[in-house]
Amino acid sequence: MHKRSARGRPDAGLDAACGTQAGDGRTGIFHPDCARAGHRGRPLDRESLAGWPHRRSPADCETGAPADPSSRADGTREHLKNPEPTAAQWLGSAARIVVKIGSSLLIDPANRTPRAGWLAGLARDLVDLREAGATVIVVSSGAVALGWQRLGMPRSTQLDRRQAAAAIGQSLLMNAWAAAFAEHDVAVAQLLLTLQDSESRERSANAQATLAVLLEAGAVPVVNENDSVATEELKLGDNDRLSARVAELAGADLLLLLSDVDGLYDRDPREAGARHVGYVSSIDEDIVAMAGGTQAHGVGTGGMATKIAAARHAGALGCRTIIASGREDHPIHRLAEGARATLFAPADP
Ligand code: GLU
Repeated sequence: MHKRSARGRPDAGLDAACGTQAGDGRTGIFHPDCARAGHRGRPLDRESLAGWPHRRSPADCETGAPADPSSRADGTREHLKNPEPTAAQWLGSAARIVVKIGSSLLIDPANRTPRAGWLAGLARDLVDLREAGATVIVVSSGAVALGWQRLGMPRSTQLDRRQAAAAIGQSLLMNAWAAAFAEHDVAVAQLLLTLQDSESRERSANAQATLAVLLEAGAVPVVNENDSVATEELKLGDNDRLSARVAELAGADLLLLLSDVDGLYDRDPREAGARHVGYVSSIDEDIVAMAGGTQAHGVGTGGMATKIAAARHAGALGCRTIIASGREDHPIHRLAEGARATLFAPADP
């Protein structure tokens, strides 16, 4: 049985939009023609999804062939009886998806400007998810890094300088998102939140109401922390944590963290012999320890530990989490087609 999602509502969306199984074993949101058309095929539209003849039962969504059966974190063989879910199933059955994009994906390290071509491909993937029936909210980093570049300033930890850089970079960030979605005639909406917005009942109700109207209007909310006003003590600090708060506010049933690594490893992935973990049924101390030594590198601020914390926060509210690589073009199509990732089941109620 599906868990209750954030805000305690029953997960009607999960039951209503269960993934579909293609003949080749791929499951989920995209029309099989997409693969043949090199990630740019005709997306499965709302009507096709509603009338899909092979709709599977919600219980089936929890099973299906695991991408890599040997990679279960607890090392048991339980999955042979009860196979692990796939990212395609989770993408195909989610009603509301929060997609977090890290600065290291969005910004070209060579010139520190947005990777426009990559962003255009991602926008296409997100439009396809919407056309398959999901609502999509983006959490995007990049303001501070873009601001440094535009100001021609060296990076600094000094608060007022970072705040100024964020003020400049945030508008550049939104321009990049607006340009990527313009081709699809989709409006983007900037939503800047602070820690207090997610912690105070009144302020989070306010943010929820705004999100509801934006989604109703068909816009894609692009959320970031309000770095220009947040002070060090009152900051979430990284967008992994922010994305889990946004998943909570929005009542999302899937949190997708796109990063520069393809998920969790049993030790730092740069170490020899590191093993990828495909599925985490519960986030215990071993899982936290695996993530412990992994720090962010490049322009991002979060490492694996903040991603696990986000998955834990989301999972406690019944929201699933996927950590996947966003390095390549069309990362969500790739994920639906079996790219390696780590899936985190929600906590038991
Ligand atoms: N909010 C910051 C920015 O947009 C980045 C935080 C993060 O990288 O996680 O620049």
